Amino acid sequence: MDGPLIPILGQQSPGGWDGGPPPRITSVLIKPVSAVCNLDCAYCFYLDREADPYKELPGRRMTLETLERLVDAYLFYSYPDSVFAFQGGEPTLAGLAFFEKLVRLQMDRGRPGQNIGNSLQTNAILIDESWCDLFRSYNWLLGVSLDGPEDVHDLYRVNKSGRGTWRQVIKGVEILQKQRVEFNILCVLSQANVEQPRELYRFFRGLGIDNVQYIPLAEFQPDGSPMPFTITPAQYGRFLCETFELWWPDRRKFRIRFFDNAAEALAGLKPGSCTLHETCDSYVVIEYNGDVYPCDFFVESSWRLGNIMVDSFSEIARRRRRYEFARVKMIPRAECANCEWRSICRQGCPKFRHGPHRRFEDLDYFCEAYKMIYARCTEPLRREVEKLLGRRETAATLSPY
Ligand code: SF4
Ligand code: SF4
Repeated sequence: MDGPLIPILGQQSPGGWDGGPPPRITSVLIKPVSAVCNLDCAYCFYLDREADPYKELPGRRMTLETLERLVDAYLFYSYPDSVFAFQGGEPTLAGLAFFEKLVRLQMDRGRPGQNIGNSLQTNAILIDESWCDLFRSYNWLLGVSLDGPEDVHDLYRVNKSGRGTWRQVIKGVEILQKQRVEFNILCVLSQANVEQPRELYRFFRGLGIDNVQYIPLAEFQPDGSPMPFTITPAQYGRFLCETFELWWPDRRKFRIRFFDNAAEALAGLKPGSCTLHETCDSYVVIEYNGDVYPCDFFVESSWRLGNIMVDSFSEIARRRRRYEFARVKMIPRAECANCEWRSICRQGCPKFRHGPHRRFEDLDYFCEAYKMIYARCTEPLRREVEKLLGRRETAATLSPY
C-alpha cells in the first residue's frame, strides 16, 4: 500500500504544470533599474511602450532585500552553474555599490564547486576605472551598445538633450580595452547602418573588436506598418550575406554571433541564441521588484510568471504560463513545416512573428532574410564544423535536417 508522500516544495503551485519535470531555467536576465535609462535612443523598444507594467512607477530600482533574495534563491536553484545577466534600461544606473554587494553575496552564498558567471549590457556612458576593477577582478563579460561610426551611431543613439553619444561610448570602449575587461559589441541594425555592412565590418575590426552581435531592428505602428528606422527583411538578408563574405577569411579570429549560433546548431549543440531554440524557455527576466517574465520582449502583465520574493525558482519553472509562452514558438506555419532551414531556424522568434500584426500565428517578419543567409552560409559552415569536430562525419550526423 502506498504511504503518504512527503510534500515536495515547488510542486503544488496553483495553476502549475503537472506534465513531468519542467525545463530548467538556465540563466536570469536581471533589470535592476527596470527600463530606466540615461539615454533617449529613438528606436528603443521601451519608449512609449504602453504594455510596460512599470512605466509610470517612481523609484524603479532593485532594493538590497530583493537582490539578496535573488542571489540566495537562484544560487540554490541553479547549482552548480549559475549565470547572472544584467540589462536595462541602463543597469549601471543601479550604482557600483549595488554590483559590489552582488559579488559579495555571490561569494558568501555560493557553495563549494559552484561556477558563477556575470554579464552586463551597457551603453558604456558611466564606465570608468572603478567599474573596470570590479569587472576585471571577477571576469565579467560586458556587451557594449555601439552602432558603428559616429554619424551612424549618433543618428538614433542620443542622450536626453538629443545629442549624439558616440564620443562618450568610444571613451568607454577605450577604458575597457585599457583595463583589459572582456566585452563584445551589440550593434543594432537600423535604417542608419543596414546598407553599410562593409563600413561596419571595417570600423569594428579597426577598433580592435573581435566579437560582434548584430541585432535587427523591427518595430511597428499599431496598424502594422514598420516604424521609419525598421529594416526590411531583404535589407537584413543582404547585410548578413555580405557580412558573411567579409567574415569568412577572418572566421577564426573574429566572432559574429549569428554565424557562431548557426555553426552551433549545425554541430548539434544548443545554440547560444534563444531564437534558434525549439521553445522559448531557456531564461527568465527578473524585474527590479522581483517580478518574473519569460522573455525581455514580453515584460507584460499577461505574461507575468510570479515574483521571487514569494515564489521559488522551482515553482516559477513549473508555472503553466511559462509553458504556454514556451510553446508559442512552435505554433505551426505551413511555410515553416515545408522549409529546408526549419531545423536551424526553428520558426524564428515570436517577437518577430508577433510584431507587425500582434499575432503569434504569423510568419517571422525576417523569414526572407533567414532564407537568404542560410542558403549562403550553411554549406561552408557545415564543412567548417566537420573540420573542427575532427572527424569526417556524414551530413546525416551533422545535418539538422
Ligand atoms: S520570443 Fe524571441 S527573444 Fe524571446 S525567448 Fe523567444 S526566441 Fe528568444
Ligand atoms: S526560414 Fe522562414 S519558413 Fe523557414 S523555418 Fe525560418 S521562418 Fe519558417
